[in-house]
Amino acid sequence: MTETVCYDCGRTYPPDRVRCRCGEPTWFDVDVDGFEWPTEGDRTGVRRYADVLPVDPVAGLSDASGGTPLVRADRLDEYAGCRLFVKDEGQNPTGSFKDRGSAVGVAWAARAGHEWVGTVSHGNMAMSMAAHAADRDLGCVVLVPSRIPADRLGLIAQYDPEVLRVEGNYGRLYYDTLDVETEPAVTFVNSDAPTRVAGQKTVAFEICEAFAPETPDAIVLPVSSGGHASAVWKALGELVDAGAIARTPRIYLAQAEAVAPIARAFRRGEETVADVDPAETVAFSISNGSPPSGNRALAAARRTGGGVRSVSEDAILEATERFATRAGLCVEPACATTLAAIRDLTEAGEIDADERVVAIATGTGFKESTGIRDGNDPVDVTLDRLEEELAAAIDRE
Ligand SMILES: *Cc1c(COP(=O)(O)O)cnc(C)c1O
Ligand SMILES: [Zn+2]
Repeated sequence: MTETVCYDCGRTYPPDRVRCRCGEPTWFDVDVDGFEWPTEGDRTGVRRYADVLPVDPVAGLSDASGGTPLVRADRLDEYAGCRLFVKDEGQNPTGSFKDRGSAVGVAWAARAGHEWVGTVSHGNMAMSMAAHAADRDLGCVVLVPSRIPADRLGLIAQYDPEVLRVEGNYGRLYYDTLDVETEPAVTFVNSDAPTRVAGQKTVAFEICEAFAPETPDAIVLPVSSGGHASAVWKALGELVDAGAIARTPRIYLAQAEAVAPIARAFRRGEETVADVDPAETVAFSISNGSPPSGNRALAAARRTGGGVRSVSEDAILEATERFATRAGLCVEPACATTLAAIRDLTEAGEIDADERVVAIATGTGFKESTGIRDGNDPVDVTLDRLEEELAAAIDRE
């Protein structure tokens, strides 16, 4: 795996090249000849699929990254309108799927002898890169947008990276980091960097391994930059090429209506994604109005027979609550866009009631308090009235 390739025009490049001359992002070219599902005793986490990665992410925090549970959330079936499975990415070391990509991106930089890594992030990727850099003893610089919530800054700070809060156009910042030159150099592992996309493929390998020899009918994930969606699409393509799955699950992508450039392009039947001005949304982690892998994400949805949906703020909050009250899962509102979108898709007849659908819950809700249910205040009781109050509580239910 020594080359990156453009998914669109097929040009190939040396491995550090992240964008093609045509403007589209690149990813690692992988030869899947001889691929076999790992067996029980093999390694867990991202390292389980080292054969399809550009670098083996060495032992350490990468052992804790990936290998997340697939939960059959049958109490959500009625709300979702289909047979629902949840891939619980909140169980990664920093609480989001970003750890899969950071493990590979940081290992790649370390192997090349680089001393610094960096990223442009809304929070989850910053935290993840800082943690993996700490594990490999690399310096880490994170560039965050000026409107980042204060509690996220605190979470990032615990891993002690250099944090730069950047004023100005967040979409442009991504491109600016591709050209900056410093001494020593900083290896930027942004949202759709080929090493990150490689690591993030492992979520789809795990999902398909769990269903093998069958496949789920659809995989649904929230989309922002399009890096994660690209990774899932790439993984499914590799598995088909390897003969490990017989057919490709449809990929559906979910956005918040407040920032939905990819959903808009899908609805209008366009080939390319145009930028939008991001409005406020509770789904803060997916508020990129200028997605660098937007066209590739759009292609992932179209070419697998899936689609892209946008959902309202109310629908996101309701779905966040349903995850908790019907499956016991605390998810970030950004992830709840999947459940809201699935509900729309089943109502529209695009997903059937007997289909098996995997929602990727990309990040834990433990990091923030948005979406917490009102009107469930505790009842104050004294010990001498315990029995009566317990009985009254049961009656209320
Ligand atoms: C980063 C992130 C996403 C979006 O992933 P992209 O690769 O930018 O499309 C979705 N959910 C959560 C929780 C995230 O942190
Ligand atoms: Zn190209």
